Amino acid sequence: MKKRTAVTVRAVVPREPEVSAEESEPPGTIADKVGSVSHRSNSLGRLAELLETGLPGNGIGGELAQRASPRSLVFRARVFPEASPAQWQDWRWQMRHRFRDRAGLEQVLRLSGPEQEALDTGSGRLPLSITPYYASLLDPDDPGQALRRTVVPVPDELVRSTGEAEDPLSEDRNSPVPGLVHRYPDRVLFLVTGVCSVYCRYCTRSRMVGRHRHCFDPGLWEAALEYIAGTPAVRDVLLSGGDPLTMPGERLELLLGRLRAIPHVEIVRIGTKVPVVLPQRVTSGLVRMLRRYHPLWMSIHFTHPDELTPEVALACSRLADAGIPLGSQTVLLRGINDDVETMRRLVHGLMQNRVRPYYLYQCDPISGSAHFRTPVERGLEIIQGLRGHTSGYAVPTFVVDAPGGGGKIPLLPDPVAEREDGNLLLRNYQGRVFRYPDTAR
Ligand code: SF4
Repeated sequence: MKKRTAVTVRAVVPREPEVSAEESEPPGTIADKVGSVSHRSNSLGRLAELLETGLPGNGIGGELAQRASPRSLVFRARVFPEASPAQWQDWRWQMRHRFRDRAGLEQVLRLSGPEQEALDTGSGRLPLSITPYYASLLDPDDPGQALRRTVVPVPDELVRSTGEAEDPLSEDRNSPVPGLVHRYPDRVLFLVTGVCSVYCRYCTRSRMVGRHRHCFDPGLWEAALEYIAGTPAVRDVLLSGGDPLTMPGERLELLLGRLRAIPHVEIVRIGTKVPVVLPQRVTSGLVRMLRRYHPLWMSIHFTHPDELTPEVALACSRLADAGIPLGSQTVLLRGINDDVETMRRLVHGLMQNRVRPYYLYQCDPISGSAHFRTPVERGLEIIQGLRGHTSGYAVPTFVVDAPGGGGKIPLLPDPVAEREDGNLLLRNYQGRVFRYPDTAR
């Protein structure tokens, strides 16, 4: 068994918030109710007791257990002993207390040599940002842990390999106005903010996210909104960034209202990782606002089954209950989720949380991504290992986003064994071959 060594921790110095005052919904009503109790006792034993038994007479403990996993409760008590449950459940508090540098991270992780080196060299490709909630899921002693590798930099990300580029998908070239990518005939990608709550080290938009110059504000949205309003072919708008759900609710609502006022915009989609890394953001106030702008769809960026915590389950359940169809987007990452068993656990967990596995992406050849990228063959093997072995709904479409702006190209293991006398010989999920009498053209 792996030896675990305790890491000395202390509370992290609060940082400049990147969110403005928001929002109507007070955070963590249940947590508020239990706040005084936990605050008084403030001991791990008492927290464990609360989880097991609930609060006397009102069943609140059960709901608390549903929205805060034991792991995050223990982490909060250890790293932020002064924070109340209500503060922990407040997404703005989470944003203000993100880990942003080596000094902060050292308080919760035993950093490896390469991690220290990457953090010391300054910025790397992307800024560092990890919410306290997501940090509670990281293994403090294992730099090889899947989730940790996705958010803590290593020097490999500074190495540019053959074929890699800052903007491999040529999004900038397909941008008629700042912040808008118009590649497919009937839909546009609207990059509404440069801010994320957590920066993924393999981010396709690492050239722009987390950098001030790309923090689009409503003033900069005007040109994009005018373009959409003046282009009747656009019936589908995907809001992305950055992460749209890091924006204050009023700002997001302003944008949704403007888009809904354009008659030819039939659907709006939001691409986000917030329900996974900052599930506290999915308040009942947020979903009440979102449901006013249907038809609204959401693509959630999941990476690994370990992300499926009680907090994330609650966030997904709130969104699904608001009638928002949920799909997942997952990037295939070497040594992180590139095996059938991990992917099976992920897609089954997603289905249980009413999230339809949507896309499995081959990792884009962004600069410094070689240590994350797998052979395309690996993705096909995973699809082969899922299709037929589990519900069709649980099998995502494996796609390569073609470098140079070619768009998403789906790849499937080839099921056609051969053609014979007008028949197709087809291989099923068990590898057995069946004959189908194909019709002549
Ligand atoms: S959440 Fe999305 S946009 Fe933000 S860093 Fe991760 S992959 Fe990039």
